[in-house]
Amino acid sequence: MKLTRLEIRGFKSFGDKITINFDEGVTAIVGPNGCGKSNVVDAIRWVLGEQSAKYLRSEKMENIIFNGTRSRKPSNLAEVSLTFDNTKNILPTDFSQVTITRKLYRTGESEYRLNEVTCRLKDITDLFLDTGIGPDSYSIIELKMIEEMLNNKDGSRRNLFEEASGISKYKIRKKQTFNKLRDTEADLNRVEDILFEIE
Ligand code: ATP
Repeated sequence: MKLTRLEIRGFKSFGDKITINFDEGVTAIVGPNGCGKSNVVDAIRWVLGEQSAKYLRSEKMENIIFNGTRSRKPSNLAEVSLTFDNTKNILPTDFSQVTITRKLYRTGESEYRLNEVTCRLKDITDLFLDTGIGPDSYSIIELKMIEEMLNNKDGSRRNLFEEASGISKYKIRKKQTFNKLRDTEADLNRVEDILFEIE
């Protein structure tokens, strides 16, 4: 599976739409300090579902929307799309090309899309489970992560191996199942209360 294209509009320093095509071989992004190189990585992390503004180097999520310059008005919408070549069917879908999109409006509304169809964040995370691609997986390695791995902070080394060996998928599903069980128990308690009131 190959990352083929990244489109960014209204995200952090990118007021205008930019398209980065990832051709064969290695792609390097070069530029002076503060020109927005790390913002490209933040955009990839964000479209994959990152929920923490802190990991996008922002105080709050709204701050990732382009906030304008002296000569340009701020954007009302941040939009990032990431396209993968899936001809090897690594992603569990029939599509040979998969594009995921995330949008955030200044009003707070947000939207995820999978090949131009509105979807839930869960649909995107489920699609990439076990592939090593995700906001907190080993496909995006920042300098800070290397330091954390070396120090093994919060069991980060174990998390990395669990993701690589496919265990994290089951851990996430276990957590989701326990949450459902907890909700069902709460519903049952509520039903019992209502029955008690009726009797
Ligand atoms: P360095 O080489 O220092 O790590 P860099 O090239 O990786 O820098 P980034 O950290 O990606 O640069 O980008 C920082 C720039 O992004 C700053 O100029 C900052 O003002 C700009 N920026 C961040 N958020 C926004 C936003 N919401 N709107 C406009 N510009 C923003």
